[in-house]
Amino acid sequence: PETPARYKRVCLKLSGEALMGDKEFGIDLETVERYASQVKRARELGSEICLVVGGGNIFRGLQMAARGMERASADYMGMLATVMNALAIQNALERIGVETRVMSAIEMTAVCEPYIRRRALRHLSKGIVVIFAAGSGNPFFTTDTAAALRAAEMGCDALMKGTQVDGVYSDDPKKNPDAERFDHLTYLDVFRRDLKVMDQAAIAITRENGIPIVVFSLREGGIEGALAGTGTFTVISES
Ligand code: UDP
Repeated sequence: PETPARYKRVCLKLSGEALMGDKEFGIDLETVERYASQVKRARELGSEICLVVGGGNIFRGLQMAARGMERASADYMGMLATVMNALAIQNALERIGVETRVMSAIEMTAVCEPYIRRRALRHLSKGIVVIFAAGSGNPFFTTDTAAALRAAEMGCDALMKGTQVDGVYSDDPKKNPDAERFDHLTYLDVFRRDLKVMDQAAIAITRENGIPIVVFSLREGGIEGALAGTGTFTVISES
C-alpha cells in the first residue's frame, strides 16, 4: 500500500505543557484544537495513530512530593491529570470527525475504556485514534516512559515527540543561541551527552525494541511534516 507517511503506525507523545498554549496552567482549548487538526491531517496521510498525553500542565507528582506529599499519592494525582487532558483531546478530535477511544491505565469505566492491549490494537487497525491516559498506571514513572511502553506494545514504527522546538539541540536553543541542532542521533549519543529528549527509561525501552524516536516541533512543521518527512526534526535510532 502506498502511503506518503514514513511510518505506518506511530505513537505520539504530547506533553501536558504543550496543551497550555501561552497560558501558565491548565488547558488552552484553541491549542488543543490545533493539535487535533494536526492529528486529523496526519491520519489522512495513512498512518495509524495513538497518543500518550502528559499531565504536567495540571499536576506534577515530583513537585508535590518535594513539598512533602507522599510520592506515590502525588503520582496518582498526576496520572489523574492526564485523564483530564485525554478527554479534552478526545473532545477536540471527535468534533472534527475523528473517531477516538480513550483508554486509561487506571480503570475508570464511567469515563473511558480500561487499557486492554489487544483491544487497543484492534481499535488502531480499524483506524481509530487511541488516546492513552493515566500513563503507565504506576507511580514513579513518567508519561515519556509510558509512551515508550505503549509504542512497544502497539508495535509502533516510531515514537514521535512533539516539542516547542524543531528537534534536539546540544543546549536549550531558547537560552543559548549557539546551541547546535541535530538531524540524527543514536540512542547512545543521547545517554552520553545527557541530552534532554525523553527520560532515560523511555530511551532504554525504545532502544531495546528498535523504535526510532522522532522529535519535532508542534509549532512549525507539525505532526504531518514529521510523518511525511517534509518538516525539520531529529531522528534518534541505533546507528
Ligand atoms: N505519572 C506517573 N506514572 C506514569 C505517568 C505519569 O506517576 O506512568 C505522574 C507523575 O506524577 C507525573 C504526572 O503523572 O509528574 C504527569 O505526567 P508527566 O510529568 O510525565 O507529564 P508531562 O511532563 O508530559 O506533561
